[in-house]
Amino acid sequence: MALDPLPTLQRVFGFPDFRGVQRDVVERALAGQGTLAVMPTGAGKSLCYQLPAVMLEGTCVVVSPLIALMHDQLRAAEAVGIRAATLTSVDENQAETRARFLSGELDLLYVAPERASGGGFRDLLSRGKLSLFAIDEAHCVSEWGHDFRPDYRLLKPLMEAFPAVPRLALTATADAHTRADILDQLGLPHEGMIVAGFDRPNIRYAISPRDNINRQLADLVAAQAGPGIVYAQTRAATEKLAAALAATGRPTRAYHAGLDPAVRAKNQADFVASEDMVICATIAFGMGIDKPDVRFVAHAGLPKSIEAYYQETGRAGRDGDPSVAHLFWGAEDFARARQRVAELDPERQAGERQRLSSLGALVETAGCRRAILLRHFGEHPPATCGNCDNCQSPPASTDATELARKFLSAVFRTGQGFGVGYIESILKGVSTERSLMNGHEALSVFGIATPEEAPLIKAVARALLLRDALRANDFGALEFGPGARGLLKGGDTLSLIEAPKRERRRRGAGAA
Ligand code: ADP
Ligand code: ZN
Repeated sequence: MALDPLPTLQRVFGFPDFRGVQRDVVERALAGQGTLAVMPTGAGKSLCYQLPAVMLEGTCVVVSPLIALMHDQLRAAEAVGIRAATLTSVDENQAETRARFLSGELDLLYVAPERASGGGFRDLLSRGKLSLFAIDEAHCVSEWGHDFRPDYRLLKPLMEAFPAVPRLALTATADAHTRADILDQLGLPHEGMIVAGFDRPNIRYAISPRDNINRQLADLVAAQAGPGIVYAQTRAATEKLAAALAATGRPTRAYHAGLDPAVRAKNQADFVASEDMVICATIAFGMGIDKPDVRFVAHAGLPKSIEAYYQETGRAGRDGDPSVAHLFWGAEDFARARQRVAELDPERQAGERQRLSSLGALVETAGCRRAILLRHFGEHPPATCGNCDNCQSPPASTDATELARKFLSAVFRTGQGFGVGYIESILKGVSTERSLMNGHEALSVFGIATPEEAPLIKAVARALLLRDALRANDFGALEFGPGARGLLKGGDTLSLIEAPKRERRRRGAGAA
C-alpha cells in the first residue's frame, strides 16, 4: 500500500514539499508502524499526524497536555479545512463532538491525557473508527523528561485496547535516556525512532559568567541590532532589567504572568510588531509567538535544562539570518537549582541532577558549545563549529585534573565531613588547631599541593561542585557526588578557564 502523501500535502496544506524528516514520519504512520519523532520546535511536528489523519480512514486521537495549545491547534487545523474537535472539560459541545466522532465526521480528536483513564472514553473510542494515536509532547510520559505527567502513563493501556491502531509519539525535547524511556512507556519499537537535525547554524552561542548583569546586557544590546528577548528568572527581575536597558536607547518592555492581562498582551503585540525592541520576560514568554526575526536571546540566569535552553534560544533567528544566544550564569544559580532538586520527591532527583550536571558541562566547557548541545540531542557533530564563543576565541585554560584528584582524595581521606577552606589548608599543609586535633596532618595529602597549584584550589573546588563531583551539605561539608568517579578512576579531565575579568572591567570603565 504505497500511498503518496505529497499530493495531499500540497492540496490540503499548501506546502510544496516536506521538510526534513516529515516524509519519513508520515510514511511510517501511513504504513501502520509505531514511531517516535524527535523534532525541534518549529520543525513541523503537527503536520506529521495531521496529514495521515486526513489520508487515513477514521479519526486520529491526539493527546496533548495543555488545553490552551489544543485550542490553538484546533483553530489551525480547521483553518486548512481539517475536520477537528477538542474533547476537554472546558468544551461545552462535548455531546456534539462525541456524535461527530461516532458518525465518522472527524479527522482529528484532541484530548487531554486524563481522559485516557476513564472507561467511558475507551468505550467511546471502541464504538467509532480510529486511524492513529498521536501523542504530542511525548516526553511527559517519562520521569526522565523535564515535564513528567503521570496521566501519560495511562496511555499505553488505553492504546493496547486498540492493537491495530498505529501510534505516533512526538517531542521536541528528549535526551537519549528519555527517548529510550518514551519508547518503553508507550510501547513503541526501538527501530521506530526518527530524530531530526537539531542544529541551528545561524545562531551563535556564547556563555559567560555573570559579573555585572546590567552592564553585560547593555553591551550585548549595543552590539546587537534588531529585536531581542532577555529571559530573567523572576517577575521583579524582568521589570528591573527592562528599566535598566531602557538607558541604552532601545525600546524595552517587561513580560510576565503577574502583569495586567491587557498590559501583557500589549507588550507582546508591541514586541511582535517592532524591529528593535528588547523584551525582558520570564520563560512563559515565547510559546506560540510567531516572530521569525528575533536577533538575540539572552539569559540573565541559568535555564532549567539543556532542553529548555535549546528551546528558548531557538526563538532567535527563525528566519535563518545570523542571530545570537548569550547566557549569563553564576555559581549561585547552580546552588539554588541544587537546593530545589533536594526538595523534590526522591524518585525525581536523579533525573534532575543529571540535567543540572549537563548544564554544568555546557557552561564550564572550554570546547565548542554547539558540539555539546548537539551531542546532548544524540547527534555526532564535528568538534568545532566556528560559530560559538569558544570556537571563535578559545579561552585560555589550565589543566587542573591532577589538582582536582588531590582535592577529591583529601575530601575522601578526611572522611567527607569538611568544607572547602579546611580542605584547602590541608592541601597547602597549613597547620591549624583543628587539623592537629583531627590527626589530619599525618595524612599523605597534607601539604600535597605544589606552590603553583595552591592559588587554584578554590577554583578547582568550584568546578568540582559545578560538575557534581562534589556536593556540599547545608553546613558546607563536602562529599562525593556522581561526577567524582570519572575523575578519580576514569579518564575525565578538568580544566579551569581563566576568566578575562579584569580586561572587561577596564573596557567598561573606559566606556563610562
Ligand atoms: P512544531 O510543532 O514542530 O514546533 P509546527 O507544527 O507548529 O512545529 O510547525 C511550524 C511551522 O512550520 C508552522 O507554521 C507550519 O505551518 C510550518 N510547516 C510545517 N510543515 C511545513 C512544510 N512541509 N513546508 C513549509 N512549512 C511547514
Ligand atoms: Zn563552536
